[in-house]
Amino acid sequence: MEPTARRAASSGTEPPGPAGELLDAFVRTVLACPPATAAAVGAELVSVLRDERPEWRARFEGLLAAVEARAAGRGSTFAALGDDERLSVLEELEDDEDHRSACDLIGDLHLAAPASWERLGWRPGADAGGAARTGTGVRVAAGADAPADALASPPQVEDRYDVVVVGSGAGGGIAAWLLARAGRRVLLVERGGWPATADLARDHLRNPRAATGLDPWTGPRGTADPRTLLTGAGPAVLRPGDGGWNANAMLLGGGTRVYGAQAWRFCPEDFRMASRYGVPDGSALADWPLDYDDLEPYYDEVEWALGVSGRPGGDPWAGPRTRGLPMPALGGGSQARVLADGARALGLGTTAVPLLVNSTPRAGRAACVRCAQCVGFACPVDAKTGTHNTALPWATATGRCTVLPGTRVERVLASRRDRVEGVALVGRWAGATWRRAVHAEEVVLAAGAVETARLLLASAHDADPAGLGNGTDQVGRHLQGHVYGGATAVFAEEVVDLLGPGPSIATCDFRHGNPGLVGGGMLAEEFVPTPAATRRWLVSSGFTPRHGPAGRDGLDRLARRVVRVVGPAQEVTTAGSRVRLDPGVRDGDGNPVAALSGGVHREDRRTQEFLSARAAQWLHAAGAERIAPLPVLAPCGGPSAGQHQAGTARTGSDPATSVTDPFGRVWGYRNLRVVDASLHVTNGGVNPVLTVMAGAARIAEHVLTGRTRRRSG
Ligand SMILES: Cc1cc2nc3c(=O)[nH]c(=O)nc-3n(C[C@H](O)[C@H](O)[C@H](O)COP(=O)(O)OP(=O)(O)OC[C@H]3O[C@@H](n4cnc5c(N)ncnc54)[C@H](O)[C@@H]3O)c2cc1C
Ligand code: SF4
Repeated sequence: MEPTARRAASSGTEPPGPAGELLDAFVRTVLACPPATAAAVGAELVSVLRDERPEWRARFEGLLAAVEARAAGRGSTFAALGDDERLSVLEELEDDEDHRSACDLIGDLHLAAPASWERLGWRPGADAGGAARTGTGVRVAAGADAPADALASPPQVEDRYDVVVVGSGAGGGIAAWLLARAGRRVLLVERGGWPATADLARDHLRNPRAATGLDPWTGPRGTADPRTLLTGAGPAVLRPGDGGWNANAMLLGGGTRVYGAQAWRFCPEDFRMASRYGVPDGSALADWPLDYDDLEPYYDEVEWALGVSGRPGGDPWAGPRTRGLPMPALGGGSQARVLADGARALGLGTTAVPLLVNSTPRAGRAACVRCAQCVGFACPVDAKTGTHNTALPWATATGRCTVLPGTRVERVLASRRDRVEGVALVGRWAGATWRRAVHAEEVVLAAGAVETARLLLASAHDADPAGLGNGTDQVGRHLQGHVYGGATAVFAEEVVDLLGPGPSIATCDFRHGNPGLVGGGMLAEEFVPTPAATRRWLVSSGFTPRHGPAGRDGLDRLARRVVRVVGPAQEVTTAGSRVRLDPGVRDGDGNPVAALSGGVHREDRRTQEFLSARAAQWLHAAGAERIAPLPVLAPCGGPSAGQHQAGTARTGSDPATSVTDPFGRVWGYRNLRVVDASLHVTNGGVNPVLTVMAGAARIAEHVLTGRTRRRSG
C-alpha cells in the first residue's frame, strides 16, 4: 500500500480492525483460493496492519467499506455474493490505488509462503548441507557467518585511532582493509549489525528487493529513522520500507551483504559525459576529474583480490584491461540461450555479466550453487562476495582494525577549517544510550550517498556554518541513482529454469553512441525472481489480472515463461536533486534527518524509454509472444537514488562545483576523505559497486603514499 502511505508514515498504535467474513471473502476473491488459505493470508494481513504498518489500516478499512457498499448496491453483503459477483465488485475497483496496493500485498503475503511454491514449480534451491535451515527450506552452510566474533563492543573503543572509517559497505570496507593492511590503526564504525545469514536468506516480504513496503531485515527498521521526501505531491515523512526513503542496506557489509553482485567497470566515456555530449539544459552534467586509466589499476586490484567471475569481451565501449578475470563466468540457463539467439538475430553484441560471485571455490569459500533467491538475500553458501566476507575479516585479521557495529557517527568533530578532530559516536550499550568522542588523524566517510551528505551537513561548526565542505552549497546536490529501462515478456515455451543469480547475458551496445541520446545503458536479464516478484511482473505488465481465477491461473501458467530484461540508464544529474537536513524531523537519537528533494531530468526518462524499446526488441527477436516495456517514470516522483544512490559529495577539480578534490579530500579539510558512491560525478550506464570499490582503493593509496597509480600504454 505504499504510494499514498508516503503521506502518512507516522506511527499509529490502534488495534487492528478488519476481520471476519468480509476480510476472508475479500482475500478469497483476490486469490481465488480455498477458505483455509484465505484465512491464513487474512490473519497475516491483520498482523502486518497491527504490528508493522498500522497507518495503512484506515485505508484498508476504507477499501473494505467501499467493497461492502458496492455489494449493498447489489442487495447483499460482499461475503454472501456469488463468486462472479464478488469478482465484478473487485473489477469495478481496478482503478482505485488502495485496491491495487491491497491486492498486491495480499498476493505477496500468499506467495511468500512456501506452501504456495509447489504449484509454480519454484524452489529456493540451496541445500548446502550445513547447519541452519531457514523457514523457507534454504540450508545455510556452516561458516557463512564467521566474522561475527571479531566485532568490538563500546567498552573496547579507544580514545584515538589513526583513522576512523564511517560505514562498512563497498567503499568503507575496502578503505578499512587497505589502511589496516598498511599499518594504520583503524576504527570502522557501522550503524547496522550482523544479522545471521539464515535470517537474511528466508523472508520474501522484508528484503530490499521486496515491493511490500515492509521494513527490510537489512535495516533500518521501525519509526526511529524517518526521512522526508519533497515531491510535487508535497512533503512526506517516510520510514525505511517506503520506496521514497531510498534504502540501500544498513548492516555490516552495507549493500554488499545482500546485493546482486553485478561487477561492472565504468567505461572511458562514462568519465567524460559533459565533454562528449554537452550539458543538457537544466542538468549539471560534468566530467570526472579523473579518467578510466586512473581507475584501471584499482579495478584490476579489486577484481582479483575479492574475486570476480566473468568473461571480458563483447562490450564495444569497455576500456583496456590489465588482464582478464580470476574466475570463469557462471554461465546462463535456457533463457540466456534464447536471449543469445535473439541478440544474434538482431546483430547485437553480447557479453557475460561480471559478478562478484565465486563460480569456482575460492579463498576458502564455496562456489555458487545457483539457488533461486539471490538479489536481496544473503548467500546461503557464502559464494557471493561482499566486504562482509572479504575486506572486513581481512582488516580485522591484521590486528589493527576494530569493527564497531550498532553504532552511529552522529557528527564529524571540527572546530576550525583545515582539520577535523575525530567523530562523535552514539549507540546503545547495556540497555542505555551511550555517546562518546573518538579522535583520529584521518576521518574517512563511507556512509552511503544519502548519509554521507547528511553527516557533512550535520557537522557544521562556527567556522563552517553551512556544513563541512559546503562553502559553495554543493554538499548533497547531484543525488542520482539509476532509472531502469527494460521490458517484460512471456514466451510460448517454458524458458525459465530459475538458476540464480539470474543475470548472465548482457548487451553493452547501448552504453553510448545512441543517436540523439545522452549516454545510454547496458541491458541484461533480470535477477531470478521470487514468486511474489513474478506475480508483480505479470500483473504490472498487464499479462494477468490482479485478482480472481484468471490471475491465479495466469500465474501458474506463465511463471516459468516470463522473462524480464532491464538496464540502468546513465543519468545526467541535476543540482536540484539533493539531500538536505530536515530541522523539523529528528531520528531516535535526536539528530535531524535527511530530506530528499528534486527529480530526474527529462533526458533520463528519454534514455529509460530508449532502453525499454531496445529490451522489447531483443525479447521479440528472442521469440517472445507478448512484450510490455517498463513504464516511463513520472516527472515528479522524487529523486532517483535507491540502491545505486550516488553523487552527493561530487569529486572535482574546482571547489565551486564539487565537494572533494580528485582524491576524495573534502575541500578545506586535509584529513577528511569520502570513499563511497557519494563521489560519483556520474553513475555510469551499469551497476556502480565495482567503481565504488576501485575508487576507495585508489583513495586509500593516496592516504598512505600521497600518490596514485595510473594505467599506462
Ligand atoms: C538488494 C541490492 C542489490 C544490489 N545489487 C547491486 C549489483 O548487482 N551491482 C552493483 O554494482 N550494486 C548493487 N547494489 C548497490 C551497491 O550495494 C551499492 O552501490 C554499494 O554498496 C554502495 O557502496 P557505498 O560504500 O557507497 O555504501 P554502502 O555499501 O551502502 O555502505 C554504507 C554503510 O554505511 C553505514 N552507515 C550509514 N550511516 C552511518 C553512520 N552515521 N554511522 C555509521 N555507519 C553508517 C550503513 O549502515 C552502510 O552499511 C545493490 C544493493 C542492494 C541493496
Ligand atoms: S551467489 Fe546467489 S545464486 Fe549463488 S548460491 Fe549465493 S545466493 Fe544463490
